[in-house]
Amino acid sequence: MTKRLRTERREAARDLAKLAQTRAKLAALERGGAADRPIEVASASIAEPHAANLECAACGAHAQRVDEHVAVTVSPDGREPARRLRVVRLRCSRCGTRRDVFFRVGTVLPS
Ligand SMILES: [Zn+2]
Repeated sequence: MTKRLRTERREAARDLAKLAQTRAKLAALERGGAADRPIEVASASIAEPHAANLECAACGAHAQRVDEHVAVTVSPDGREPARRLRVVRLRCSRCGTRRDVFFRVGTVLPS
């Protein structure tokens, strides 16, 4: 009985960890989850509040803290021109999961 309970707990913990991983993967596929699919914003000042408003990719809590807000230049595959992006690094104040959200300020089309 006790042994079975322990096994079930262990399995439940494993399922939870798996679920958190799956959610993180899904979040990475969403707009803003990677450098090649940034969220378009009109101005840099919008990026931070927008990111802070997202829910945690792992536990679903609305408790994101902004750790850092940096400007980066990425060149996704060498063919496209380099892009200037903003990355807002979040940390969930409930479960501690970190997440990077990518933004592009304005829309600059290559001429
Ligand atoms: Zn969380």
